[in-house]
Amino acid sequence: MIKVNENYLKLQGSYLFSQIGKKVKEYEEENPNRQVIRLGIGDVTQPIAPAIIEALHKSVDEMGNKETFHGYAPDLGYEFLRNTIVENDFQKRGCDIYADEIFVSDGAKCDCSNIQEIFSQDNKIAVCDPVYPVYVDSNVMAGRTGEYNALTGTFSGVVYMPCTLENDFCPELPKEALDIIYLCYPNNPTGSTLTREQLQVWVDYANRVGAVIIYDAAYEAYISENHVPHSIYECKGARTCAIEMHSFSKNAGFTGMRLGYTVVPKDLKSEEGVALHSLWARRHGTKYNGAPYIVQRAGEAVYSPAGQSQIKSQVAYYMKNARVISEGLKSAGYTVTGGVNAPYIWMKTPNGMTSWKFFDALLERANVVGTPGAGFGPSGEEYFRLTAFGTYESTVEALDRIKKL
Ligand SMILES: *Cc1c(COP(=O)(O)O)cnc(C)c1O
Repeated sequence: MIKVNENYLKLQGSYLFSQIGKKVKEYEEENPNRQVIRLGIGDVTQPIAPAIIEALHKSVDEMGNKETFHGYAPDLGYEFLRNTIVENDFQKRGCDIYADEIFVSDGAKCDCSNIQEIFSQDNKIAVCDPVYPVYVDSNVMAGRTGEYNALTGTFSGVVYMPCTLENDFCPELPKEALDIIYLCYPNNPTGSTLTREQLQVWVDYANRVGAVIIYDAAYEAYISENHVPHSIYECKGARTCAIEMHSFSKNAGFTGMRLGYTVVPKDLKSEEGVALHSLWARRHGTKYNGAPYIVQRAGEAVYSPAGQSQIKSQVAYYMKNARVISEGLKSAGYTVTGGVNAPYIWMKTPNGMTSWKFFDALLERANVVGTPGAGFGPSGEEYFRLTAFGTYESTVEALDRIKKL
């Protein structure tokens, strides 16, 4: 008889968004004439910008031509894309990162879940709480997380760093020496950010104790304030302690196209002196065959002048929704954060209501769907997430309904 990987049996609950989907479907079946507005999931709604579509058409035609056809992509990605990325996302910002340190992939979710493979089973991980569930679950699958405690909703082998209103969503430095620290800023789900100085404290800590920071910069394009860093490599010393993930999903609407990249600086070494870059290159070469040529050309077009101006107006569209949500909730008396440098608004539930109770109340009384904070970790309890990825019209309508409650 075959046996399964027993680590998978430790995974908790059904996936948050399938739970939400089920509840919404049941409600809609029972109330067919109510129009439900979804401000729950983090998927974009605006179509791919014209400059990117043009690049796609052009590269599709190249694939049909004997002279310009492309087979397997190079392991790390095409140079035209890696050079464009380095110039625009790093060198223009004064970050010391080079094209051969960029690994192009089909998205940040795979990269931030796969990266743990190159680390020892004994490494101790820390995550912000609330957390993007992928960081914990990928380590559960790898058997690095110890036992689950149903009472606290946490794994014994994971350090959960509370991020709440009390600490302005900036985790405190741990007392113990950790090995792998996941940070995501601008944050999903809280929409919060760190200043350059706050992030520098983490970089200094990681260099001091020999830890690696896995920095998820998926929402970098939503940053509007100057004191918020776009990359961890804006901090001094990050080349020896940080790996960074980027995605084309949220800045350019590539959730259905699939493109991202990971930065592993060559100065980043393990205790044994092994360069993590060489391990990730090996992993990439063995288990991955590259993002499609046409999608990498589309990614290149994101950085063209036309592409930049078009995606900037998409981001502006979503951030206008974020203001509608944030200002609407505040005027209705709620405590609200986020929504300034991120498309997520994080609110406190009223009167200490549990986040699932608030989910039900909002669905039943306003026909609006959001995401219960408890789904992102114990410190998410009594919080609730709304996203700015809807249409402007439905966002305005949703807030009108919430204000009438
Ligand atoms: C959306 C998102 C990503 C991006 O995932 P892709 O696989 O690139 O679509 C990564 N991290 C976080 C926190 C996200 O919310």
